[in-house]
Amino acid sequence: MKKIGILGGTFDPPHIGHLIIAEEVYQELGLDEVWFMPSNEPPHKSNAMASGTDRLEMVEAAIQGNAHFRAVDFELKREGKSYTYDTIYHLKERYPSISIYFIIGGDMVEYLPRWHAIDKLLELVHFVGVNRKGHPLSSPYPVLEVEVPLIEVSSTDIRNRMKEGRNATYLLPDEVIHYIKGNHLYET
Ligand code: ATP
Repeated sequence: MKKIGILGGTFDPPHIGHLIIAEEVYQELGLDEVWFMPSNEPPHKSNAMASGTDRLEMVEAAIQGNAHFRAVDFELKREGKSYTYDTIYHLKERYPSISIYFIIGGDMVEYLPRWHAIDKLLELVHFVGVNRKGHPLSSPYPVLEVEVPLIEVSSTDIRNRMKEGRNATYLLPDEVIHYIKGNHLYET
């Protein structure tokens, strides 16, 4: 069975926090690949600022050159809210022989009790929690913990910097900055 890590997120935009946690979990758990999966409409957030197409392109730009990272559009292709349970259910049908490690940051670990169909989802995936500043990793659910260097970067902070014309160099790959500037994202 192939061990696949899935990092779901808004990726609005993707940044080094995403890349570092994906790489650390890949190494620590001996995964075969990590799939980056932009959500369509995340259930817990207001709508994304950038379109699904732009977010997918930015993820592709961010992971280029890493042979064990892949960008997948499973959720973007579906309409409406992105419930992880529905997505994973369909994924398991399509790829019956993969074992899924669903990677989440500390903020999402805290939120886990409120995930749609969490008990059924727990039968389909192993959750992997990584530390994020200000969020404890404790959970009433079985969550594998992987310790990663604390990276205090968020997409919200990057969007704010972009709006204010401030520099975000090194917080996200140059290729993604290039895409943002070229497509005039996050300017207003
Ligand atoms: P926003 O600021 O828009 O809320 P974000 O930076 O949290 O976005 P998401 O795309 O929502 O980014 O995150 C996807 C996943 O990656 C989530 O599980 C989140 O917890 C995790 N994550 C994002 N940034 C970090 C980070 N710096 N450290 C640890 N985990 C992170």
